[in-house]
Amino acid sequence: MSKSLQAIRGMNDILPEQTPLWRYFEGTVARLLDNYGYKQIRMPIVEFTELFKRSIGEVTDIVEKEMYTFEDRNGDSLTLRPEGTAACVRAVLEHGITGGGQVQKLWYIGPMFRHERPQKGRYRQFHQIGLEVFNLDGPDIDAELIIMTWRLWGELGIRDAVKLELNSLGTSESRGRYREALVEYLSAHHDKLDEDSQRRLKTNPLRVLDTKNADTQAVLVDAPKMADYLDDESRAHFEGLKARLEAVGIPYVLNPKLVRGLDYYSKTVFEWVTDKLGAQGTVCAGGRYDGLVEQMGGKPTTGVGFAMGIERLVLMLETLELIPEEISRQVDVYLCAFGEEAELAGLALAERVRDQLPNLRLQVNAGAGSFKSQFKKADKSGALYALILGDDEMAQQVVGFKPLRGQGEQQSIAWDALAAHLATCVVQG
Ligand code: ATP
Ligand code: MG
Repeated sequence: MSKSLQAIRGMNDILPEQTPLWRYFEGTVARLLDNYGYKQIRMPIVEFTELFKRSIGEVTDIVEKEMYTFEDRNGDSLTLRPEGTAACVRAVLEHGITGGGQVQKLWYIGPMFRHERPQKGRYRQFHQIGLEVFNLDGPDIDAELIIMTWRLWGELGIRDAVKLELNSLGTSESRGRYREALVEYLSAHHDKLDEDSQRRLKTNPLRVLDTKNADTQAVLVDAPKMADYLDDESRAHFEGLKARLEAVGIPYVLNPKLVRGLDYYSKTVFEWVTDKLGAQGTVCAGGRYDGLVEQMGGKPTTGVGFAMGIERLVLMLETLELIPEEISRQVDVYLCAFGEEAELAGLALAERVRDQLPNLRLQVNAGAGSFKSQFKKADKSGALYALILGDDEMAQQVVGFKPLRGQGEQQSIAWDALAAHLATCVVQG
């Protein structure tokens, strides 16, 4: 195929054989979030570039080198959203739904875009389910977010394969004091830092903590520790969170180097990581951002949230072979009809059955065909039962009912009794 007719590198089709797993995952998360009282919000995929610069921060990896930015026909600079928080904050401000301290517990799902080097678990169009809570500032809500994800891992069967890493970045004042101490220490070791870290020392020094460079990591061993700079309020908040996780029995490890890629975090930051996916090990990440709304022009409004990468979690379910068997079966019953008269009767019968069993997954054979070919298609569809309408059945006004998986003889069912019979043998989702 010519190059112009291929998908863009790092932007993938999700093929029909994969969508059942995606829908299972998305459905599981959506149900869980509904049950905890979160409401879905849907934001546009494109926003003014300025929104992301203002919120994510000019000197972050995302804004510096990962955004898909273009000029539209009006000459406005627009960007395909690289994450959801900025747009969500814009939306709540624009509609005034966090004003006067109104609590909002929101979630969203959809594609995000970052110009990164594509590899396993890292793409240029990827999908997140994210969640933001506004106007609740206690550690109880931070705990709830983590508890919900823990329940999700339980439902998916991956609790043993993920680990919770936790840190507190403190309030902006304590982070400011820490930043000063860190800059002073790192400046004294400037020559031993890698080039990227030397640059970050000037622009975003906390990000140096997150370096992959071994020499810089060695310098960091004796660097000042964030925990020593937390003020009383941040410390109490962090203790409150830990106590709640312990009460529920959620194991965690403290990671003082966890700073997250975005500029706007304060107090709690966390990541759920796995060693099952190679280098792309973070499946869900988030934290508190009490200063962001104000920074974006709103009244002081606290916030906390997270986002999970759907591709990475789906990949994990595949890798660990945790795909529930029932999700790949998409047909319950397959109707085969032989001859024009049977085909017409079959169509009418199928619609009558659908009237009575609206959740039945009933596929009517299309494209006619011999007994053998229709039967092959019935089998391939994954259906549990085939319904057969031939000359004999037409004469007696019955339909042949044949189990396709496992035991059971073919039986004849009167047309009028078909729906009632199917209701007894097909579990309807
Ligand atoms: P990473 O350190 O892996 O680059 P990040 O800190 O940039 O992640 P966030 O902005 O916190 O990621 O996004 C939340 C989650 O979205 C990540 O934990 C990951 O699961 C997923 N994610 C982020 N970038 C990508 C990507 N390019 N492809 C696939 N999933 C991604
Ligand atoms: Mg990243």
